[in-house]
Amino acid sequence: MDKKVFLVTGGAGFLGSHLCDLIIGKGHNVICMDNLLTGDIQNVEHLFGNESFKFIKHDVTEFIHVRDTVDYILHFASPASPIDYLKLPIQTLKVGSLGTHKVLGLAKEKRARLLLASTSEVYGDPDIHPQPETYWGNVNPVGPRGVYDEAKRFAEAMTMAYHRYHQVDTRIVRIFNTYGPRMRLNDGRALPAFVSQALSGEDITVFGDGSQTRSFCYVSDLIEGIYSLLMSDETEPVNIGNPAEITIKQFAEEVISITGTSSKIVYKSLPEDDPKVRQPDISRAKTLLGWEPKVDRAEGLKRTIDYFKNKLGI
Ligand code: UDP
Repeated sequence: MDKKVFLVTGGAGFLGSHLCDLIIGKGHNVICMDNLLTGDIQNVEHLFGNESFKFIKHDVTEFIHVRDTVDYILHFASPASPIDYLKLPIQTLKVGSLGTHKVLGLAKEKRARLLLASTSEVYGDPDIHPQPETYWGNVNPVGPRGVYDEAKRFAEAMTMAYHRYHQVDTRIVRIFNTYGPRMRLNDGRALPAFVSQALSGEDITVFGDGSQTRSFCYVSDLIEGIYSLLMSDETEPVNIGNPAEITIKQFAEEVISITGTSSKIVYKSLPEDDPKVRQPDISRAKTLLGWEPKVDRAEGLKRTIDYFKNKLGI
């Protein structure tokens, strides 16, 4: 087999670490780069000692030097939960802008193919539902989420500019809400919050009246979709996510039912600019990649809750 070298930025994060596993499992080499700002070395600890795996602690907003050949770059470095990017607004803007510039420069130098991890946040609080890739979005640039949304919008523009002007081989994935093992328990997202509250018998905090919707994709489905996109010829953005839409209140009720907790739902104020609806239109992924998600929420939630129980020693 032709063994390739993959650089994964944000490789110690939730999605990055699952990508490292998938790539190593396919018999390739991985250089995992992370400054561990929101990533966790424990996510890749099991890969240390594997001769196909190398870890470099580095902030990708600074010049990136890699001595080896690099065939593929997966740019996943960024704070990615609302709590994280509210706490780290400047770092979030820098990694999306300066960091993306640096990895594109590296891709050009190494003649590597680069895949940018973009997000459904580029659609903002959408007034088209579900969201197809042709929708340009409804983003508040100066609101609290603007630091993430605009950084990723800039990152997409920069990626297309390097593609068109420097002929860098690029791919852009727009990632919708994803869950699974290795999410941080305290990252403030709905799922880890609900599960940790349910497991410790605390109140489940639903923001607003819980009528806002999301569509949650299990991590293994997402990672396979991303790998298919990387290996495809598609250079325009592609949505990857699970279209099974649910209200946040129903989602909290599912966690309550699966964990069997006696916790009750309490309602807290809705964060500013919290999107009212979100659901991916995955027609392009289906047609272009022959990909669609396989793991339903009942199964995905069970696996994720087992992971959190294990992590908490329950
Ligand atoms: N949410 C909630 N309670 C929490 C955390 C989040 O009700 O403890 C809501 C949040 O307001 C949003 C949805 O759950 O409407 C999904 O939030 P998450 O942070 O997971 O991701 P987002 O899709 O907002 O980026």
